[in-house]
Amino acid sequence: MSATHLFPERLSLHFHADKWCPCGTAATIRKTSRKIVATVNAGEFEAIETQTFCKPCQQIFGSDELRSLTPQRGKFGFDVIEYIGRSLFVQCRNELEIQAELATRDITISAREIGFLSKRFIVYLALAHQQCQAELRRLPENHIPDCAGFSSVFKERKQAHSRTM
Ligand SMILES: [Zn+2]
Repeated sequence: MSATHLFPERLSLHFHADKWCPCGTAATIRKTSRKIVATVNAGEFEAIETQTFCKPCQQIFGSDELRSLTPQRGKFGFDVIEYIGRSLFVQCRNELEIQAELATRDITISAREIGFLSKRFIVYLALAHQQCQAELRRLPENHIPDCAGFSSVFKERKQAHSRTM
């Protein structure tokens, strides 16, 4: 069996939106859409999302679970973005090394996409840092909050900060 035939068929996972609108109305199924998603833990898979619709509110609902895995309209999961950011900026790996590492996790990604996602990582990190700044100052040294999955990066930042004090 060659490496290209290890995963002959891509895994399909179903994601469902809430059946109930917060207004108390049972939402109806609006549509089902498919997209390819890649996460560090699951590799590449097909996400089949069923959206619902609340007629009185005229509101469309997607799957919260799928939203928590990937940015909207994005293929690569938040964990892939974090993996790239940590590999580039903490472990000082280059794009080709990261590309090869992700390939072992069944994730196909170009060097250009890695570059793009590394910039996205910086944006997320800055936003998460802003949100956590006040909390970080208030907390004792060994108690670090989980800030959007980037907690370990924050821990390193805080430890580096305390070493310079
Ligand atoms: Zn409603």
